[in-house]
Amino acid sequence: MNAFNFTMPTKFYVGYGQVEVLKDIAGQYGKKAMLCAAEGTMRQFGFLDRVEALLRAAGVEVSIIDDVQPNPRDVDIDRQVKFFLEEGCDFTVGLGGGSAMDTAKAVAFLAAQNDGSVRDYLAGGSKSELKDVKQPYPVICITTTAGTGSEATKWFVVTNTLNHDKPGVGHDLLMPSVSIVDPEFMMSLPAQITRSCGIDVLFHAMEAYIATCANPFTDALAMEAMRLVMKYLGRAIENGANDQEAREYMAWANTMGGIVIGEGNSGTVAIHALGHSIGGQTNAPHGFTMCPLAVPYIERTWDADEKKYAALTRVFGYGDDSMSEHELAAMCPEAMKGVLQKFGCDMTMRDLGVTEDMIGPMTDSVFQTMGGVLNNSLKKFDREAVMELYRAAL
Ligand code: NAD
Repeated sequence: MNAFNFTMPTKFYVGYGQVEVLKDIAGQYGKKAMLCAAEGTMRQFGFLDRVEALLRAAGVEVSIIDDVQPNPRDVDIDRQVKFFLEEGCDFTVGLGGGSAMDTAKAVAFLAAQNDGSVRDYLAGGSKSELKDVKQPYPVICITTTAGTGSEATKWFVVTNTLNHDKPGVGHDLLMPSVSIVDPEFMMSLPAQITRSCGIDVLFHAMEAYIATCANPFTDALAMEAMRLVMKYLGRAIENGANDQEAREYMAWANTMGGIVIGEGNSGTVAIHALGHSIGGQTNAPHGFTMCPLAVPYIERTWDADEKKYAALTRVFGYGDDSMSEHELAAMCPEAMKGVLQKFGCDMTMRDLGVTEDMIGPMTDSVFQTMGGVLNNSLKKFDREAVMELYRAAL
């Protein structure tokens, strides 16, 4: 058994209607909040007005940035840090999916450092070792997607507009102070975003389960998250506006997915390491960037831990009691393919806009920015193996 540590510095509020707690707790974090909201949708569905009103009811002044785009860019983060400092804010509130929450985390962190551009802190930058960092301002995350689990991780992810890298920045001090996981804010998610985010939950859980550093804590949460995705994602895609139960359990699966990748216990593997570079090149929805890689990855690794891969086959709803562990593990690529088809996520890299000439730069980016994640894989992926995996997914 791998030894492991875990801490849970974030206070979580999980459940339908939990957002109301803001009016009781927000005042603890300061007098003025910078509310970072996903562009368009948060205003359209009334979430922005509601959260602003709850913050004001807590006696908190509010400065709003409501132009957060999917896959936050370095230039936008720098502009938002400037806004935070000019407005004299005391904390940030991220309202939206991973992009808005990561923006809130990045702004709170960088405003506290008040030293250079976010690019300096990305892999390869002059401050990327994150030595002697100052305590970030507090962050409240309100997730409106069931996908990234960013509300439960110590990471933010930023696209470097100079070289198309899409690295994560991770530090224990980046854990949010409070995270609100309220499925009421997820009922409005359209089918395609429910799909791209929901499949991200499955990958977080699956990858953490088959990572070199998996442990009993992450295994238990990851297996439960996968069970819930298999039971509820189809319902959330098909009838998400009316199916509160499906939204509730997808929301919780999402947060468990964040916990298993985020606490330094486990982590994702080559699927995410290579997927980030697809996102950096194409700006495709994050969850979809892993889909083309999943089956080729499992084809290359299933025999590295037959017990674990047999368990994946079973949780995906394949195999039967007459099969040996070896047979079940060998069936895992077929089971993964079936899961992707079931959720409408069976796609190639070309479907996402990748062309063959991007494979070289994407491979460089994997080693530049995601080497640690790559090394969580049960088999070694050197440069040739990464390129070969990309070609198989093209
Ligand atoms: P997103 O935040 O980019 O949002 C996608 C779209 O969904 C946006 O257009 C947004 O307006 C819309 N939307 C959000 N909530 C909605 C709702 N309730 N109703 C209707 N529309 C809604 O999507 P995401 O997949 O949650 O986040 C992706 C980002 O998170 C990527 O940059 C990814 O790299 C990052 N990420 C971060 C972590 C982490 O640990 N910090 C982990 C995984 C991914």
